[in-house]
Amino acid sequence: MNYLSDRINLLAESETLAMTRRSRELRAQGFDVINLSIGEPDFDTPDLVKDAAKEAIDQNYSHYTPVPGYPELRQAIALKLKRDNGLDYTAEQIVVSTGAKQSLANAILCLVNPGEEVLIPAPYWVSYKEMIKLAGAKGIFIESSIQTDFKVTPEQVEEAITPATKLFMFSSPCNPSGTVYTYDELKAFAAVFARHPQVFVISDEIYENIIFTGKHHSIASFAEIHDRVIVINGLSKGFAMTGWRLGYMAANKDISKACDKLQGQITSGACSITQRAAIVAMNTDPAESQDIKQMVDAFKYRRDMAISLLREIPGLKLNVPEGAFYLFPEVTSFYGKSTGDRVILSGSELCDYLLDTAFVAMVPGAAFGSPDCIRISYATSEDNLREAIKRISLALNNLK
Ligand code: PMP
Ligand code: GLU
Repeated sequence: MNYLSDRINLLAESETLAMTRRSRELRAQGFDVINLSIGEPDFDTPDLVKDAAKEAIDQNYSHYTPVPGYPELRQAIALKLKRDNGLDYTAEQIVVSTGAKQSLANAILCLVNPGEEVLIPAPYWVSYKEMIKLAGAKGIFIESSIQTDFKVTPEQVEEAITPATKLFMFSSPCNPSGTVYTYDELKAFAAVFARHPQVFVISDEIYENIIFTGKHHSIASFAEIHDRVIVINGLSKGFAMTGWRLGYMAANKDISKACDKLQGQITSGACSITQRAAIVAMNTDPAESQDIKQMVDAFKYRRDMAISLLREIPGLKLNVPEGAFYLFPEVTSFYGKSTGDRVILSGSELCDYLLDTAFVAMVPGAAFGSPDCIRISYATSEDNLREAIKRISLALNNLK
């Protein structure tokens, strides 16, 4: 008897986490798996932040915190948003949560009603679709392709808007494509949303520090839509703090109060020790942080190295992502090829084949709404990357 709720039965498992689980299981069985599936920096949290956490433990920050976060942290985030993004928010407009994932879920659950439509450019980050499903809303996906660097146009967005559209959500830099929208492109999107006052925008900016060309811009900086944008960010990527679980959102006061109420019934807020450490992280200007600079330089070096090695493999189509730490090659030229009785008919089958035979774990593009691609995370050592690409190349050459 299946006694679980329809809600949970309908929910898909997170494929990024599932692939990581599969590669851990294979490793436990003794296989030499290289994991290029999980998107998390392989760097250590900066010492200053770690010291602040140790101090917080010694100073007994062990009680419940205010649900939306310590006032000093919300103030530090407001200052960060001004310093780094030129955005004006007061501390009351900020809600701190256990990871950007929870901030996203809070915002979606507070904004959309069952049946309403949420526009999402594809490829999109894996959890957006499932969070929308949990809210009972309908995801409407706007297609892009490698030919346009996985960007959608303002015309495509406007065409997709209907009276039922409540929300548009995207990440820039994008997970999984690494695509970064320019100031002018964001301005053109803002002009579309200005014409449709019922549409809110979730702008997921968690990769803002990991950018190789140009500069990160927030769509919240356009006055005509500022009040309808929910900025999502967190410490996982920029400060190499995935396990600490701290994210935040900034929005108009009605939305932030609603998220505070929701979180007050579900988690009571983020960990007290993490919050104290986060104050130090937020007071760090990324433009002046050697830790962040070293990490971003290393990602850029690996991106360039991986691209030049992967470009030697006939059939893989690659673009040059400008941010985050993923490559998202298109793999359609391998469809119909085979080895033994194994025929490759999709990106997911190619991913399975590469895990089973080359022991390299990646995530099928289907998880991100682009089934003809696969996602390669280069947040791993150069040695791992070189070895993984060598294995991928051999396995792909074996397909005839
Ligand atoms: N948004 C995007 C685009 C991500 O890649 C991630 C990484 N998991 C998140 C949100 C969630 O991050 P967090 O670890 O802060 O929950
Ligand atoms: N953002 C990472 C990824 O996409 C972490 C995994 C997750 O939170 O789903 O791989």
